[in-house]
Amino acid sequence: MLLTLVFASATFLSTMTGGIAAIRWPGRLELLMAFAGGVVLGAAAFDLLPEAVAQAGDAGLPTWLPYAMAVIGYFAFRILEHRLHRRDHRHGPNRMGEAGAAGFTVHSFFDGLAIGLGFNLDRGVGIIVALAVIGHDFSDGLNTVSYLIAHGHDRARQWRWLIASATAPVLGALVGGLLPVPDAVFPVALGFFSGVFVYAATSNLLPRALKAQRAVVVPLALAGAALMFGMSRVV
Ligand SMILES: [Zn+2]
Repeated sequence: MLLTLVFASATFLSTMTGGIAAIRWPGRLELLMAFAGGVVLGAAAFDLLPEAVAQAGDAGLPTWLPYAMAVIGYFAFRILEHRLHRRDHRHGPNRMGEAGAAGFTVHSFFDGLAIGLGFNLDRGVGIIVALAVIGHDFSDGLNTVSYLIAHGHDRARQWRWLIASATAPVLGALVGGLLPVPDAVFPVALGFFSGVFVYAATSNLLPRALKAQRAVVVPLALAGAALMFGMSRVV
């Protein structure tokens, strides 16, 4: 539980750093996003999904189940984000942007839940998931703040949502780490989270990086993925 808490606090700092960077130096973090996109994809491909399939085998569940859950996780977040965007435009100027910030906060809660469940299962899985989350959460904080800035919200509201979005993964990690989880839940949850990670990389991190820094995005993303491949062999 101590390790879970240590890593969960690091997600808090990472999210806050991204949010503060968005307030101070807007538009400077694209290179980090390219690398983080690779890290998140690598964590899903080299660690979460294989672990989910192995766990499915151990629990006597079909091995296609984690893959199906990955597809569900991907579309669940795609649909969630789409709906929140639509709601944003119906609410009038005052509410605009807050639904988007709420979406990033929900996403961050799931990031933390993945860390807690990872450590609940096995320390190695926990560390890999935590690195992937800490490595990209700066972008969740940055997105939360940029979204509110784009919709004309004031500093006070930017800070409020940034703190909410930074606290969410800590709460998620506590829930995932403390709840008694039956073995059959791991292949389902880890498969789902790998889909959520693929969504975060392909809908957010990599497209934003590509818009600003086309030439170096692919090498940086590959470096991030290779790093996670190496880490998944070691821990
Ligand atoms: Zn995230």
